[in-house]
Amino acid sequence: MTSVARSVTRTDYQRSVADYWNAEKDPVNLRLGDVDGLYHHHYGIGDYDPAVLDGRGKRRDDAIIAEMHRLETAQADVLLHHLGDPSPADRLLDAGCGRGGTSVMAHRRFACQVDGISISEQQVEFANEQARKHGIDGAVRFHLRNMLDTGFESGDFAGIWNNESTMYVDLHDLFAEHARQLRPGGRYVTITGCYNDLTGGRSRAVSQIDQHYICNIHARSDYFKALADNGFVPITVVDLTAETIPYWELREKSPVATGIEKPFLTAYREGSFHYLLIAADRV
Ligand code: SAH
Repeated sequence: MTSVARSVTRTDYQRSVADYWNAEKDPVNLRLGDVDGLYHHHYGIGDYDPAVLDGRGKRRDDAIIAEMHRLETAQADVLLHHLGDPSPADRLLDAGCGRGGTSVMAHRRFACQVDGISISEQQVEFANEQARKHGIDGAVRFHLRNMLDTGFESGDFAGIWNNESTMYVDLHDLFAEHARQLRPGGRYVTITGCYNDLTGGRSRAVSQIDQHYICNIHARSDYFKALADNGFVPITVVDLTAETIPYWELREKSPVATGIEKPFLTAYREGSFHYLLIAADRV
């Protein structure tokens, strides 16, 4: 880890998260991104076409991978839809940007400036290279920064999102930083997995997911408390759980399954875990 990377990661925990993502070369992330150059590290939504399971050998593998990629891109489309209608002069922030797929899509959709941040140097390098390949590096930039303390000016952003990256941080610290950076009236959107307060605490399956990703899945209620405490007023909440289950069923049958499919399917089916979209305005 370079000295810049050390100053971005403040704690041993953050360093272990950065180490994980710096080393990560999982085919479930890379082969799907290779389909069209949009690299996502999040899950998919919507029904899959069962015909992709019919082929054999490489043909079958490629069809499944393309279909999983279609579903993960559909997920990012839904997130961006809830960002409202930013104008090309606006700036957007992708907090915990991974290899940058959602940022590229945001620029294509809104034509605005996008900054993506990650605590993984490898991801930032990879994402900037992709922006160059797409010819949009003048508008989409990736930075090695901590989303709890980004160093960006106050009130600079019209919209901020976390696509499956809130489970690595304290929500109060995160939303305080987002409130600082968003201009009044700015929009915040997250898609996240959260555990169900009604079933009480983390289920075994949810704990297995935490362990697998070195993350700390929050309760559904934590989101609304932390948002309200930081001046955010939710406008839309969508339970995407039923829509993400087909992705996991397909992934379980795919050549890029990682072994975490069972805990996800168990947690969603037993109701101990939700896949939630929350959009909120900063007042
Ligand atoms: N949003 C991306 C990646 C999700 S994976 C996508 O949808 O594809 C989670 C991401 O959160 C990783 O990029 C990881 O580096 C990042 N992350 C975790 N903790 C962080 C922190 N404190 N500051 C910035 N990024 C962080």
